[in-house]
Amino acid sequence: MALLDNLLTLHRVDSQVRALRGRVDSAKTYLDAQDRQLALLAKQKADLETQERQLQAVIHNLGLESQAIQARVDKLRGELNQSTNDRQYKSILNELKVLETQKDEAAKRELDEMQRAEDTKKRLEVHVATTAERMKVREVAKAKFDECVKDVGDRLAELEAQRERAALAVPERERKVFDKVADETGGESMAEITVVDLRHREFACGNCNIEVPFEVYARLSSNSDAVIQCKACTRILHLAEENRHDPDKRDKAKFEKTRKL
Ligand SMILES: [Zn+2]
Repeated sequence: MALLDNLLTLHRVDSQVRALRGRVDSAKTYLDAQDRQLALLAKQKADLETQERQLQAVIHNLGLESQAIQARVDKLRGELNQSTNDRQYKSILNELKVLETQKDEAAKRELDEMQRAEDTKKRLEVHVATTAERMKVREVAKAKFDECVKDVGDRLAELEAQRERAALAVPERERKVFDKVADETGGESMAEITVVDLRHREFACGNCNIEVPFEVYARLSSNSDAVIQCKACTRILHLAEENRHDPDKRDKAKFEKTRKL
């Protein structure tokens, strides 16, 4: 078989392999995105829990502080009743005043911290609900991925073997060109030349529509082993069978056409 025919065969199998792989890949990408989301949610949950623990510790310490102040206040009140002179009395009163202010401040801070702890608790509850929802989405994504692998698996293995066989029929240099173009174009490695006007020798790339010189058309019509890439879109150019000057093929193509009419 001529090189371009082998390339066309390779192209057909290659694009099927790519389409199937694409299905598995996009299911995997979606599943991975869900896993990333869940990892992020787990991290946020750990942060919120740390924050909650820290707030509880602060609240506990403020409670102890208030108790200590209260104990001192109680003690001073007792001393106040037993004070024997005016100076001592005034001094105790002053300290009591300072302590009352400190007690108020500690109580206010405790209230603020309790409010923050309450908010954090609510955020954690919302977070748990969000995570549960995300887990459901992840389960669906996993089921879809498994189903896709199961559906595609056997067929993909079969096609990959076919692709390998088809690739063996193409010499290494041309195969490298093919693989490069296929990777760059997502599997659209071949483009058929469109005959715009045969009499005026006008031809175009069937993919990007850029003009193809007559010399390229002439070379391809007489030689099915020439690998010529489109100057604009890099695809490997080929001719429809009826435009090739390969006697066997042309006659066969003509025969097919007549039969269809
Ligand atoms: Zn092109």
